[in-house]
Amino acid sequence: MHEKRIGIYPGSFDPMTNGHLDIIKRASKLFDEVIVLIAYNSSKLNNRFSVSDRLIMINDAIKDLKNVRCDSYDGLTVEYAKKHDAQFLIRGLRVVSDFEYEWSLAASNEFIDKDIEMVFLMAKKENTFISSSSIIELASHNVDVSSLVPQKVNEYLKNLD
Ligand code: ADP
Repeated sequence: MHEKRIGIYPGSFDPMTNGHLDIIKRASKLFDEVIVLIAYNSSKLNNRFSVSDRLIMINDAIKDLKNVRCDSYDGLTVEYAKKHDAQFLIRGLRVVSDFEYEWSLAASNEFIDKDIEMVFLMAKKENTFISSSSIIELASHNVDVSSLVPQKVNEYLKNLD
């Protein structure tokens, strides 16, 4: 038996949005502990923000959530979960295309570890259109996205090249 119910919320978070934050807040009520995991692959580096900047942005957004912390991992999320005794992987679902992607991801995760449980939370309808890439697109055209992202992310976006 596991002592605590630990959920991992893996993603790119490049950058974090209010859609991600909403999933984190809701997950924090479902689990004893939630780890927001910046899952990256050091051989595929085409990200907008560095992992250390993403950590700063996420840590600032979650600072008032007592059972949530953030980490990064270069490798398979399922392996990270095993190392940290986490039994649940949390993902958010927005549109049907998310479902297709998540379906294959869930199947691969199950192939690696049949005990890991995927937990899907539906996006709030007001967040369905928010994605990291749409935020970057809007911010790069100087559209005010301050109502769509945490405050620290908005600060970073103002300094985009
Ligand atoms: P990945 O590259 O792993 O898809 P993302 O940072 O884009 O990483 O997303 C991480 C998770 O958060 C995914 O499960 C994604 O579907 C979910 N997500 C992204 N944006 C939203 C949103 N606006 N509302 C709810 N869930 C979201």
